[in-house]
Amino acid sequence: MRVYLDNNATTIVDPQVKNAMEPFISQYYGNPNSLHAFASDTHIDLNNGLEKIYAGIHAPKQDSVIVTSCATESNNWVLKSIYFEYILSGRKNHIIISEVEHPSIIATARFLESLGAKITYLPINSEGLIETQTLIDNLTDKTALVSIMWANNETGAIFPVEEMATICKEKGVLFHTDAVQAIGKIKIDMKDNDIDYLTFSAHKFHGPKGVGGLFMRKGKELTPLFHGGEQMGGYRSGTLNVPGIVGMGKAMELAVDAIDFDMPDVKELRDHLEDELLKIKDTFVVTPRKKRTDNTMLISFRGVEGESMLWDLNKAGIAASTGSACASVDLESNPVMEAIGAEADLAHTAIRFSLSRFTTKEEIDYTIGVVNEAVTRLREISSSYAYTPKNHNSQL
Ligand code: PLP
Repeated sequence: MRVYLDNNATTIVDPQVKNAMEPFISQYYGNPNSLHAFASDTHIDLNNGLEKIYAGIHAPKQDSVIVTSCATESNNWVLKSIYFEYILSGRKNHIIISEVEHPSIIATARFLESLGAKITYLPINSEGLIETQTLIDNLTDKTALVSIMWANNETGAIFPVEEMATICKEKGVLFHTDAVQAIGKIKIDMKDNDIDYLTFSAHKFHGPKGVGGLFMRKGKELTPLFHGGEQMGGYRSGTLNVPGIVGMGKAMELAVDAIDFDMPDVKELRDHLEDELLKIKDTFVVTPRKKRTDNTMLISFRGVEGESMLWDLNKAGIAASTGSACASVDLESNPVMEAIGAEADLAHTAIRFSLSRFTTKEEIDYTIGVVNEAVTRLREISSSYAYTPKNHNSQL
């Protein structure tokens, strides 16, 4: 059996999304900016795709949704743009992010730090959550931007971004959120919050890879990173990715519908998996269920190296993760486990299971069996496990 439980890394393209995109790969391949029928053949579906993206996040018409190649691009763009607009010009010099942002935010912030920007990395608490007060304590009159993710990719922890955005607005500070792990899991209404910029990526919600987006509130600034054309209002030049935009629109529509129709079932399966795995001694889950997305679980089995567990799971056809996808090749401990201050031996044992609306009960039951066998086998050969206290804890 093959079981895919790594949906926070990427997701299968929904067959309806694939069907919507197909004509724009093989039949209607014109460049939408050309002046002939091959171009105009694409216009209606292109606009429909964009409208579905606006509708999915309830973006007001006067605001902009700019299609990018991925969330990494959107995240880099916001931070670098703030550097160009505020820091380089000397207007302000400070950016606040959290210490558990995706590497596309953290690495960009470090790069800007090397160019002279002042960066504050907000800590998370032992539940993997960010407290609003820590943001308030760190805002200064030099702060240009706060960038906090809506939901964490490792734990699923949901951060109070709407509250934080309002605090920032009152202080005249711009607010960006990386909503990559929130689309299709949390209802997003950009008509009803103070967020200035919002990042998303189609392949995290059953759309194609290579297409993402950046919402920008009207009147806010963004320095184009790519020059050379008039696409996307001149903000992002480059021939429009027609199949990508059509696909992302369809995927967004389906993902938003799924919040009411499919996510309750996903939650039930995730909770079943979690309940069964927590019956194994010395097993811990990060972040209380009510405070995280319904598809995600970061779980630690004391004495079981995460990579060894992944090996056993992979042999049995099950895909999970020990950290963000890009970090999985180097044997580092999970960054969130480090940030919550977990003991070193636990930080190396974290495994992330992330489900989707395509996950089945049969797959979850199979996974429960395989994990139980793997924990028994790996603890038998573990040099550290015998010496640790055998508690029956569920929460770190
Ligand atoms: N932000 C978060 C929270 C993510 O989980 C990821 C991917 O893992 C990204 C950004 C990067 O997304 P993309 O692959 O579209 O660049």
